[in-house]
Amino acid sequence: MTTIATLGSHCALQVLKGAKDEGFRTLVVTERKRERFYRRFKFIDDFLVLNRFADITKPNSISFLKKRDAVIIPHGTLISEVGSEEVENELHVPIFGNRNILRWEADRELKEKLTREARLRSPKTFSSPDKIDRLVIAKLPGARGGLGYFLASDAESYRKNLKELQRKGVIGKNTPVFIQEYVVGVPVYFQYFSSILKNELEFFGIDRRYETTVDAIGRIPAEHQKGLLPSYIVVGNSPLVLRESLLEEAYQMGERFVDAVKKLVPPGMIGPFCIEGVYNEDAEFVTFEFSARIVAGTNLYISGSPYFSLIYDEPMSMGRRIALEIKNGIESKSLGKLLT
Ligand code: ADP
Repeated sequence: MTTIATLGSHCALQVLKGAKDEGFRTLVVTERKRERFYRRFKFIDDFLVLNRFADITKPNSISFLKKRDAVIIPHGTLISEVGSEEVENELHVPIFGNRNILRWEADRELKEKLTREARLRSPKTFSSPDKIDRLVIAKLPGARGGLGYFLASDAESYRKNLKELQRKGVIGKNTPVFIQEYVVGVPVYFQYFSSILKNELEFFGIDRRYETTVDAIGRIPAEHQKGLLPSYIVVGNSPLVLRESLLEEAYQMGERFVDAVKKLVPPGMIGPFCIEGVYNEDAEFVTFEFSARIVAGTNLYISGSPYFSLIYDEPMSMGRRIALEIKNGIESKSLGKLLT
């Protein structure tokens, strides 16, 4: 019997609760320090306890997971703590979705290529600090929740801020930094589910992130804001619904993304993904990021999302939707299409 497994972090609770609701056995791969926390939840049947997540690729872990016929649901922690290359080459356990695309999410150049192919409007990028002619955001590699990102408006402020963060040890001396135009507007994160069994794109929901300290700075009078460097560490998410007139475009962007993945990263987009960006002053959506797997912002809708309520007559979380797809795959003898 298939066991649905995931790393104990990020969105593990909704993934495993959803799997249980669809009748699967469930397993959490947890670091020892969080074992007690996950033991609180009765819908988790089995535990693989590790000293650190990266040990999941060790032979003992692999055989533990294989014995239980585990399918791993990938999420941000798998990428940040195990690494997309290790997942691709060393994690010899089936994962739900397209294993090959995780690398595209972690690599800036590949990411830009896919964004271009999907014809998503994206911010201008700067190949050198000396070319900065507007407000920019400097980003570091990997899905680390905006850790170490900083703003600058010219080469001088860029170098000053970079030095400051290097001095604090947040950024390493040789860490590559990616410089992108900062788009002023409303940040919005679109969450989708691509069903290859139904050959259909489902729109799930939207979230906004609460980031420290950038979301706190507006609460301080301007005179005290001077000299504060905003940081972008995600603390939580809040829900948002879109003006209905903007929804159609959200679907179109998702469909173009699915088409682009089909073309560039076979076997295509399988399951959840997210397009992340900002509505600028002209209410145009500018995409600065995508996640080719479930995002933690879907945790908002464990008992169903506003948009899934239009499709499903029972409460359907993203975690449950994944489990439902796997169940449909098993029943129609096409599970192989969903796993890599
Ligand atoms: P990560 O993938 O590491 O979480 P993101 O690229 O999503 O990082 O960026 C983290 C945060 O930085 C975003 O949620 C947003 O607030 C801000 N941000 C990133 N890029 C831009 C941009 N081009 N314009 C405006 N804000 C941005």
